[in-house]
Amino acid sequence: MSTLTKAIDQARTEGRTALTEIESKRVLAEAGIPVVETELATTAEDSVEIADKAGYPVVMKIVSPDITHKSDVGGVKVGIGSADEVRAAFKEITDAARKAQASATISGVAVQKMAPQGTEVIVGMSKDPQFGPVLMFGLGGVLVEVLKDVSFRIVPIERRDAREMIEEIKAFPVLQGVRGGEPADLGALEELLLKLSAFVEANPQVAELDLNPVFAYKDGALAVDARIVVSGDE
Ligand code: ADP
Ligand code: MG
Repeated sequence: MSTLTKAIDQARTEGRTALTEIESKRVLAEAGIPVVETELATTAEDSVEIADKAGYPVVMKIVSPDITHKSDVGGVKVGIGSADEVRAAFKEITDAARKAQASATISGVAVQKMAPQGTEVIVGMSKDPQFGPVLMFGLGGVLVEVLKDVSFRIVPIERRDAREMIEEIKAFPVLQGVRGGEPADLGALEELLLKLSAFVEANPQVAELDLNPVFAYKDGALAVDARIVVSGDE
């Protein structure tokens, strides 16, 4: 059974359609998409063990089927540098989530290595009633949310489409490295778009997908947050 099939079974058993960040990343990793390795901790001591193994600094995030925007509830902590800080962060994150949303089921805390800062891009997929799966690409943060500076292509895409998606956003100069900024590895971003296209095409149960953000580097790219929504029972 594939990681996706297992995750879908698990989600259905629990009556949810959204995979957790951890499930989503495992599924994407299996599809060859570069993601930060992420483990679930259900206790503070668990989280220390995982962090020790991953190496510091780490990032910790709330895992709850009822919470989509983790930062909005104080559910994300970056730059955690020691075992003591990990222990404290476990409590702070779970307390903050409970306070923000008393009814939320809390599955635990996701522990992952802190990735070096890159240029934040976002890649998404949603289904158009007429055209089916459509990929979206843009730069992270304000550029997407306020300026809607994004590009779209219908799945499946070819390498040339991937390149065009990247080049046609207004913020493309940022990826080329304006004002002394480092140019991003456009080949790695193309590759990521192509792999997502293939993944989506092969897995029609995937209803929606969000990699937000992906860090684009001089060499390579890495998704640090991921969310997959699957269709209900079929
Ligand atoms: P949210 O549910 O709020 O979208 P994210 O997982 O995207 O939560 O985390 C919020 C922000 O924290 C990200 O936009 C990114 O800037 C930073 N971040 C998250 N995970 C990592 C990581 N592993 N390494 C470095 N920065 C990270
Ligand atoms: Mg995010």
